[in-house]
Amino acid sequence: MNTERKDILKHARRILIKIGSGVLTGENGLDLTIIEHIVDEIAAFTGEGYQFVVVSSGAIASGRHRMGFKHKLQSLPEKQAAAAIGQGRLMRVYSNAFGKHNLIVAQMLLTMSDLTDRTRFLNTRNTLNTLLDWGVIPVINENDTVAVEEIKFGDNDNLASMMANIMEANILINMTNTDGLYDRNPKDKKRSKLIPLVKDITDAIEQAASTEADPVGMGGMKSKVMAAKKVTAFGIPFIIVPGKKKGILSDIFSGKDVGTLFLPMDEHLKSKKHWIAYTLRSRGKLYIDDGAKSAITRQGKSLLPGGVLAVEGDFSVGDPVSCLDESGQVFAKGLVNYSSLDIDKIKGLKTAKIKQVLGSHPYDEIIHRDNMAVSKDNGK
Ligand code: GLU
Repeated sequence: MNTERKDILKHARRILIKIGSGVLTGENGLDLTIIEHIVDEIAAFTGEGYQFVVVSSGAIASGRHRMGFKHKLQSLPEKQAAAAIGQGRLMRVYSNAFGKHNLIVAQMLLTMSDLTDRTRFLNTRNTLNTLLDWGVIPVINENDTVAVEEIKFGDNDNLASMMANIMEANILINMTNTDGLYDRNPKDKKRSKLIPLVKDITDAIEQAASTEADPVGMGGMKSKVMAAKKVTAFGIPFIIVPGKKKGILSDIFSGKDVGTLFLPMDEHLKSKKHWIAYTLRSRGKLYIDDGAKSAITRQGKSLLPGGVLAVEGDFSVGDPVSCLDESGQVFAKGLVNYSSLDIDKIKGLKTAKIKQVLGSHPYDEIIHRDNMAVSKDNGK
């Protein structure tokens, strides 16, 4: 048995399971046998004191089958219409399957904008925690029927990675229809090998993820590795496993060598910084001189007006903005205390001059350290 796995899983009690469409659906729509297997296992572990949140795909695929369509749906309205049909059915199937174990399910449908707004983000967290306190199993999906491009998670790998942060999961289990991440295209059966453990998401790992064949759901292996990046940056382990394999949860929790386990990063970001780095979309750019960059990256300092060389974009107080160095590399992201117009006026100046130029001096910092995520990979 693998000790690294055993150590990680020993204390894992708050579990997020993401189940992909490729696992849940077959030729005839939702695969009730598979769903029941998974639910039976979740119920058994719930009985032992584990808490589960499920992120489930399958609404669009189920709606499509229900309508008797054989082709893949292309347009957004068609997918949204199919999701509206499939989501209800999906919940009924979960409700029946969990009901056999006297467990209650709750539906949570979210869009990206529910999580980029801090108040709604916190409300989502409160709801989720209340459901878990009540012993209910939350079943989450993207609110596909209303989600348009700008407010979309894009795929449930991404949605699940954000939920892992919100619920402070001990592990994110990503159930998919492959055995895990392979070092090259798994269709090349002779040469490709499963990667059991990933300590660092290197370029080679990202490369391996981009060689995979046509996925059933929205996200392929690439979006799973992107999700792994976000989740491990928050200090949460992430595992990709074959969801159709019988007894997969027992295998995982007993430390068996199944799937691909991504170890959490040692220096993980706190919840708020993770939210800034990975959930919020940057509204503009600040170019920072080398001295200020070094004060930020090496000494843990805040960003002051003196270090700003140039401003790009049109943003307001409180907006997320990227910090770039003189060579144009992004090295931080944070919430600004001043608008783009004001920063343009006070850039390069000493803090003491702020009042003279703007007429008031609400903050010393352009971005306070507490509102800044500094990292090589900040999910920009
Ligand atoms: N939300 C979509 C659905 O339920 C699936 C998204 C995905 O496969 O990542 O059909």
